Amino acid sequence: MDDSVQVKCTKCKTAFRERARRLQNDYSRQCPCCEVVLFFVEDSHDTNIKHAMRAARRLRKEMHQLEAAAVLKTSTSSRSESRMHSSRRGSRSRGDED
Ligand SMILES: [Zn+2]
Repeated sequence: MDDSVQVKCTKCKTAFRERARRLQNDYSRQCPCCEVVLFFVEDSHDTNIKHAMRAARRLRKEMHQLEAAAVLKTSTSSRSESRMHSSRRGSRSRGDED
């Protein structure tokens, strides 16, 4: 399942994809095209941001339900196979610059 949603840059209007897990309040990332920093906040006045955040929230909910269903299905046979998550690192050190 695709876990990314489409985001549209507010400046250059380039559409790119970002993981739904990341698109939460106070998240920020650079546009791959014009490198403007987009801020994802719940009360953003920007329609593109709002739309992306709403889509991300919906997708996260769907993924959560899918995961719950998958756990239910596999828990009877083998538990180890339900671990499909890629390892997450807490730090957000990706050389972000202001
Ligand atoms: Zn851009």
